[in-house]
Amino acid sequence: MQRALLDPERSALVSEEPAWKYSLENHPRRTITLADDLLVGGQSGNTILMAGPCSVESEDQIRSVAKMLVERGVRVLRAGCFKPRTSPYNFMGLGLEGLKLLSAVREEFGLKIITEVRDSTQVDVVIEHADIVQIGAKAMWDYGILAAVGKSNKPVMVKRAFGATLRELAQIAEFILDAGNDNVMVCERGIRSFEPYTRFTLDLCGVAWLKQHTNLPVILDPSHAMGYRYGIPDLSRACVAMGVDGLIIESHPCPEEALSDSSQQLSFAEFGAMHDSLRPVADAVGRRLV
Ligand code: PEP
Ligand code: MN
Repeated sequence: MQRALLDPERSALVSEEPAWKYSLENHPRRTITLADDLLVGGQSGNTILMAGPCSVESEDQIRSVAKMLVERGVRVLRAGCFKPRTSPYNFMGLGLEGLKLLSAVREEFGLKIITEVRDSTQVDVVIEHADIVQIGAKAMWDYGILAAVGKSNKPVMVKRAFGATLRELAQIAEFILDAGNDNVMVCERGIRSFEPYTRFTLDLCGVAWLKQHTNLPVILDPSHAMGYRYGIPDLSRACVAMGVDGLIIESHPCPEEALSDSSQQLSFAEFGAMHDSLRPVADAVGRRLV
């Protein structure tokens, strides 16, 4: 089939399917090194837990989450400072002040940090403060962000836009890989379906496709998919049973008072019970929960 793909910068006319860098046919599974003893994807067999509050809200809040994670052996703290919101009247995050708090807890607790960029003007400062740059579902198609993260070697996690096909997600990862950054993982966080009772619909069939056809580490985010605390432990166990490379779970010292995503954040007790229940599931499918 003739497939014309015109790239003005390369002035090339490609008449066949490109050798997609994301494809498992063309490249072995990618491994992302967060530390010598903390690998994501590839043959590592690790399922990495990345947890924390939806937003950084204060020094006390983020330190208490960091302390809880370290006590449980969780290695990656996830919290947002630049929050994309559906209303301009909602809390948009602490911005640079929040990034500085994250850097401080990284120093104090030895945690790795994943946090989000909302637009391309924040990429450099987020790269400076984070170990993984998160591109949120609403920013998946922001080509300014893709170009900026593509220029660095910093690990990037792209979340699937809730209206994007799997191929669209994989091709967005391709923009970053093609720009020279090999450290790309993708995240399924629920797609929009006809069902209003849950916030989104976690696409586990899509996860099977990503594992079968791409070489990208696959991260699952049951918190944003479900939208309600009660479903998250069951979904997390299902995700671990699928042998995913990582999980994002939201947890807050006092979820009822959270400034964003209050209904889906787990209390520390709920998080602990869920965490304890994941290990036997990981063992059963030959994964190491980190
Ligand atoms: C988030 O991860 O904090 C978030 C806003 O999720 P999403 O981009 O998937 O909506
Ligand atoms: Mn959130």
